[in-house]
Amino acid sequence: MDFLKDLGLKEYNPGACVGADKWLATSGDDVLKSVNPSTGEVIGYVYQCGVEAYEEVMTQSVSAFKEWRQVPAPVRGELVRKMGVALREKKDALGSLVALEMGKIKQEGDGEVQEMIDIADFAVGQSRMLYGSTMHSERFQHRMYDQYHPLGIVGVISAFNFPVAVWAWNAFLAAIAGDITIWKPSSNVPLCAVAVQNICNQVLLDNGYKGIFNLVIGRGSTIGERLINDKRIPLVSFTGSTHMGRHVGEVVAKRFGRTILELGGNNAIIIDDSADMNLAIPATVFGAVGTAGQRCTSTRRILIQENIMDDFVERLVKAYKQVRIGDPLEEGTLMGPLVDAGAVEVYEQAVREIHEIGGKIVTGGHALKDKTGFFVEPTIVIGENHWEIIQKETFAPILYIIPFKTIEEAIELHNDVPQGLSSAMFTMNMQHAEQFLSHVGSDCGIANINIGTSGAEIGGAFGGEKETGGGRESGSDAWKAYMRRQTNTINWSKALPLAQGISFDI
Ligand code: NAD
Repeated sequence: MDFLKDLGLKEYNPGACVGADKWLATSGDDVLKSVNPSTGEVIGYVYQCGVEAYEEVMTQSVSAFKEWRQVPAPVRGELVRKMGVALREKKDALGSLVALEMGKIKQEGDGEVQEMIDIADFAVGQSRMLYGSTMHSERFQHRMYDQYHPLGIVGVISAFNFPVAVWAWNAFLAAIAGDITIWKPSSNVPLCAVAVQNICNQVLLDNGYKGIFNLVIGRGSTIGERLINDKRIPLVSFTGSTHMGRHVGEVVAKRFGRTILELGGNNAIIIDDSADMNLAIPATVFGAVGTAGQRCTSTRRILIQENIMDDFVERLVKAYKQVRIGDPLEEGTLMGPLVDAGAVEVYEQAVREIHEIGGKIVTGGHALKDKTGFFVEPTIVIGENHWEIIQKETFAPILYIIPFKTIEEAIELHNDVPQGLSSAMFTMNMQHAEQFLSHVGSDCGIANINIGTSGAEIGGAFGGEKETGGGRESGSDAWKAYMRRQTNTINWSKALPLAQGISFDI
């Protein structure tokens, strides 16, 4: 596959990078296999980062921060602009690698690279808009304002399902903020991380910079643990399961570090009887089947007004039958494999639980054992919202259909799960739409009307409430998380008046 070479990948790859030109972990016993989930075959190997290499990355990051924070923010932005250009040139190759290593279809792999390009463009503009506020002081001849300073080293721990975009959401904003990034990617997708580092390193070197982006590929239990416990890292941006995120949040909070937590979702679409089915059906299929149900924003529940349920299910099943399952790199494929054998086991366990509780599987319900790799059938189940299996996120293409009578009941069912990431309503009823978006409506970080739950744009702040962790990344004012805020008061009078009129005469 020529695109592997084009991205600078070899059969054996180093697993840690410090600066832009120094690769560590270039040999050793601890070799990670990168596996193609469509075939189960090995694509390449990566030497995992050990404690010594981690320390070297960390020490050099500390000193790189001292230099980088002094570079003017718009100059930092210009460098990110050039990375956007480099990514445009490599979009096809990198998109193909995402499809090969993670298993999402090529269209979605390319889309992920496009998100990197979009956030690069966004960060360039933002580099000239790191605005603070000015306030009027209550004291005579005093001036007051707040400003944002670089924060330091940002640890980025990412999940397997967005192997390149999530790094860019964090790293490009961190870079324009004056921070250094150390990235620990998921061990399922190490080649994507090495390729991204290769592309961005080249831009840094061509422009006389290094040390801004660093990589440590290693085990969660060793390198991940070390990173979250490291007091030299003031901010850990963690994307992954709620289970891991809870642990990361506790460990980082204990040392007074900050976190951005982007955790699991349990996203629902409410469809009422005024909805346009020509919008609702394709949005449901894309939301539930896209990325084989392995997006944090995947649609997991459909809350449907009971008088249109039978018709909706019939049309949805018809649409499911047209979904072509297969090689994500092949044109026309709409659903690729799950990421690994463990994910297939989780899917099968969920199906067993559905049978045990007496759930009705309308279509799907089987792993496709006749195919090589880790393929399963997209599955539709008629369910009840309170079932334990529905209350948790199963990272697979299983969709639950749940009927409701009134819009109030729908919203109550909608919010009655522990997670709070993405949500949507399909309706032509303005009152229903406004109610859903109001303070008594959806309790999620993202709420859409006549758009599905997945496929967010980078311009908005991305993230969710409750067990999704509360973090926000990407657009809007998410950049503030990567900086430290300072309030400044300057007295240019010849007196020393105290705030609140306190007199303290000596
Ligand atoms: P995961 O929690 O298994 O792993 C996430 C990352 O944590 C990986 O890089 C892993 O190596 C690392 N890790 C493991 N042990 C660690 C430790 N002890 N210390 C530090 N790091 C450790 O998640 P996953 O299976 O890769 O991804 C799927 C999950 O991610 C789903 O729950 C999905 O909803 C969530 N996700 C959320 C968002 C979001 O923005 N809300 C986006 C993508 C994925």
